[in-house]
Amino acid sequence: MKLSTLDPYIDSLSIFLALLFIQGIFFRKLRDIRPQWFTFSKRHTMLSIGLGIYYGLAGIYFMFRGSLNDEAVVYTNLRINLLLVTTIFGGRFTATVTFLTMFIGRILLGVLGGYPATIHYLILLSAFYLLCMLIGSLNMNQLKKYIFAFLCSIPVLSFYYFTNFDLARVLDWQDATLFYFIFVITSILVYAAANYIDRSNKMMYQLKSSAMTDMLTNLPNIRYFMTAFEKQFNRSSKRKKQLSLLIIDIDHFKEINDDYGHQAGNTVLSQFSVILKNRLFPKNTLVARIGGEEFAVLMPDVSLKNAALIAETVRSEIHHARFPFNPKSGNVTISIGVACNYATPEHSYLQQEALFEAADQALYQAKQNGRNQVRISREENE
Ligand code: GH3
Ligand code: MG
Ligand code: MG
Repeated sequence: MKLSTLDPYIDSLSIFLALLFIQGIFFRKLRDIRPQWFTFSKRHTMLSIGLGIYYGLAGIYFMFRGSLNDEAVVYTNLRINLLLVTTIFGGRFTATVTFLTMFIGRILLGVLGGYPATIHYLILLSAFYLLCMLIGSLNMNQLKKYIFAFLCSIPVLSFYYFTNFDLARVLDWQDATLFYFIFVITSILVYAAANYIDRSNKMMYQLKSSAMTDMLTNLPNIRYFMTAFEKQFNRSSKRKKQLSLLIIDIDHFKEINDDYGHQAGNTVLSQFSVILKNRLFPKNTLVARIGGEEFAVLMPDVSLKNAALIAETVRSEIHHARFPFNPKSGNVTISIGVACNYATPEHSYLQQEALFEAADQALYQAKQNGRNQVRISREENE
C-alpha cells in the first residue's frame, strides 16, 4: 500500500465537499429570491430533478475517474456516499434521479470498463439504490439513517473488496482495512458537511422569515413590507406601471381594548387578518400588518379605479363580518386610504414615501369624514 493511494481520495473528497457547498449556497440564494419554488409542488419537483441530476453527474465523474486509474475503490466509496447523501438530505425522489443519471452514465461509460464489469457495477449500484430507498422510508432521524446505511453497506463493500468483482482487483486484508478506514472517514466528513449546510440553510431561512413575520397575525410585518414596497415602487417607476396602495385602519380599536381587554383586542386583530388572508386579491398582492391595528395592501399593476373598488369591497366585507370577540356589537368597521402611482400616465410619485404619505392622508380624510369608509388620495383626484 503506497501513500499515493490517498491522492485520488483527497482529490475526489475535495470535489465532493465543494459540490455540497456550491449546491448549499445556491439553494440558500434561490430561497431568498424565489421562496415559492420551495413550496409549490411543480417548481419543487423541477428543483429535485435538477438536484438529482447535479449529484448524478458528480457520480458519473467519479465513475469516469475510477475507470481511468487504478483506484476504483476510492471512487466507488464516494459514489455510495453520493447516493446516500441525496437520499437522506434530498429525499427518495431526488435519489432516484441521481441513481438514474448514474445508471445511464455507467452504461455510456461501459466502453471504458468493459462489458462484464459494467454489468457488475450496475448490479452494485442498483442494490445500493434499493437499500437507499429502504432507508429513505424508515422513520428515523437523519443521523440514524446514515449510520444504518453505513452498517448495511459493509457487507456490500466486503463483497466488492474480496471477490473478483470488476475483474481487476481482489484486495488483501491490509488494503481492505485501509479502504474500510477511508470509507468511515469519508462518510463522517461528508455527513458532517451535508448536515452542516442543510441545518445552517434551514436556520437562516427560519431566522429570516421570523424576522419578517408578525407574531400575532402571521402576516408579513412592517420590515418585510418596507423592503417589498421599495422594490415594487422602483419597478413601477422604471416601467411606468401602476402600483396601488391601500392603508387600512380599524375604527375605534382602542375602545375594544379599553372595554374588553387587550386579549379581546388581539383576537379581533387575528380574526381580521384571517379575513384578509382568505379573501382573493389580484395576483402578486402583498398584505402586511404595518402597525398596531394598521394594515397595508400593496397591489402591483392595479389601477386606481380597481384599487378603490377592492377597498370598498373589503370595507363592506368587514362591516358585515361577525366578530364574536367584539362583544359590544359583534361588528368591526375599518377606514381605508387609497393612493396609486401612475394613476394616469402623467401622475407619478417621486419616492415611495410620498405614495405612502398620500394613502395615509386619504386614510386621515376617511377618519375625519366619520370612519367606515374609503377615501382616495386628493392628488389622484386632481
Ligand atoms: P381610530 O378610529 O381613530 O383609528 O381610533 P383607534 O382607537 O382605532 O385608534 P388609536 O390609534 O387611538 O388606538 C389604537 C390602539 O390600538 C391603541 C393601542 O393600545 C392598540 N394596539 C396597538 N397594537 C395592539 C395589539 O397588538 N394588540 C392590542 N390588543 N391592541 C393594540
Ligand atoms: Mg384605529
Ligand atoms: Mg391606528
